[in-house]
Amino acid sequence: MNKINRRDFLKLGGLGLGAAAFGFPAVSFGATGHKVVVVGGGTGGATVAKYLKRADPSIDVTVIEPNKIYHTCYMSNEVLSGERDIKGIQVGYDGLAGHGVNMVQDSVSTIDPVGKIVRTAGGKQFAYDRCVVSPGIDFKWETVAGLNSKVAERIPHAWKAGSQTTTLRKQLEAMKNGGTVIVAPPNNPFRCPPGPYERISQIAHYLKHNKPKSKILVVDYKSAFSKQAAFEQGWKSLYGYGQGKMIEWAPSDGVVALDEANKTVTTQLGVKHKGDVINLIPNQKANKIAFDADLTDGDWCPVERRTFESTRHPGIHIIGDACTATALPKSGYSANAEGKACAEAIISLLNGTPMPTPAYTNTCYSVVGKDYGISVVAMYKLKEDGSAIEKIAGQGGVTPLDASAVDLKREVAYAHSWYNNFVKDVFR
Ligand code: FAD
Repeated sequence: MNKINRRDFLKLGGLGLGAAAFGFPAVSFGATGHKVVVVGGGTGGATVAKYLKRADPSIDVTVIEPNKIYHTCYMSNEVLSGERDIKGIQVGYDGLAGHGVNMVQDSVSTIDPVGKIVRTAGGKQFAYDRCVVSPGIDFKWETVAGLNSKVAERIPHAWKAGSQTTTLRKQLEAMKNGGTVIVAPPNNPFRCPPGPYERISQIAHYLKHNKPKSKILVVDYKSAFSKQAAFEQGWKSLYGYGQGKMIEWAPSDGVVALDEANKTVTTQLGVKHKGDVINLIPNQKANKIAFDADLTDGDWCPVERRTFESTRHPGIHIIGDACTATALPKSGYSANAEGKACAEAIISLLNGTPMPTPAYTNTCYSVVGKDYGISVVAMYKLKEDGSAIEKIAGQGGVTPLDASAVDLKREVAYAHSWYNNFVKDVFR
């Protein structure tokens, strides 16, 4: 790990700053009459809308989003442990409206890239000069026999925060002391690589203090995961980790079938596991609207890396989890950074100003337990020829395994500070 700036980055991360490196002065280009329509008012969509308005108030920016309230996935794992109320992850859209963004509560059904028109399920249509699509993820239900969106209301993935987060919390509360929680993380690539492992930590935190005879069995497609050594060290010291301990990890053998009636999952290798609570997080792909609008190639949306413009349909930009912006991970922090970079690119394209070259930071905190936080920081830059976003070698890193108790406690404070400032940066 390069120690040069990790501490400084963490401080910046804790402030919710340092996503994409831009200044965003408010510049008036006069009444240009340009229209931007944003599909999805989640992390990426809200960011791009706010920063477009901040950079050029003359642009008419409309966000189309079906929900009145957004539930942040970030910190939703704390709802599962009872450390945070569901209201603590809710945010409304008054902040965006206050920036002059037109909020439309509806769902987009089609995007016409030739006529440059977005149509909604509610029968409205919106003309655009530039369209930004940030619809997040959907699930590959077909990879688990016996699972579909209806069943998932009872066997919740809780990978889109909201009602399923509450359902999963209630199931944990109702479980007997001595019960088994099965957590089945998805295969790569998926939204929030450290997310399942923070979830395991938060569930363990709840069980330790309320149902200490219980177990968490992690049935995982993967043989390695994000911040693994730091998580495993935390699990050992806080909860017990390994065979016969509170947390047990079964790698390289993902779930392929669910028997809901018998609360049993079957793995690729034919192993059956019975659980009292099952948190099956399915494999993922871009949200349905990205497929309906012909923006995908395979599971995700290919984009031109400098502007996030679709390589399939000019005039449409895709940001957030749905796009292929490797090496940036599918995280809220990345969606926010991409939103800012995309806003700058759109300003340049609409107003003929020079196209900036973005640099990025991604920081991801995980609260492992009481006074025990860990994080990963990485820096990225656009390749000279604009063909890829690359991780900058030798920068950032993961919480060191010899971090002091003071530092681990400080990471929890940074995590909560980051959350508050990040939500403000995106939505307010
Ligand atoms: P979203 O934020 O999901 O927004 C998509 C929006 O599009 C939604 O509001 C949806 O309603 C809307 N939409 C969908 N279809 C349509 C349509 N047809 N018409 C109109 N609107 C539509 N990231 C971090 O950086 N740090 C963390 O600590 C962190 N923790 C996480 C913990 C968990 C448990 C999970 C699951 C994720 C976590 N993430 C974290 C990841 C983060 O939540 C996502 O990467 C981020 O929300 C992606 O933003 P997005 O804009 O692509 O999608």
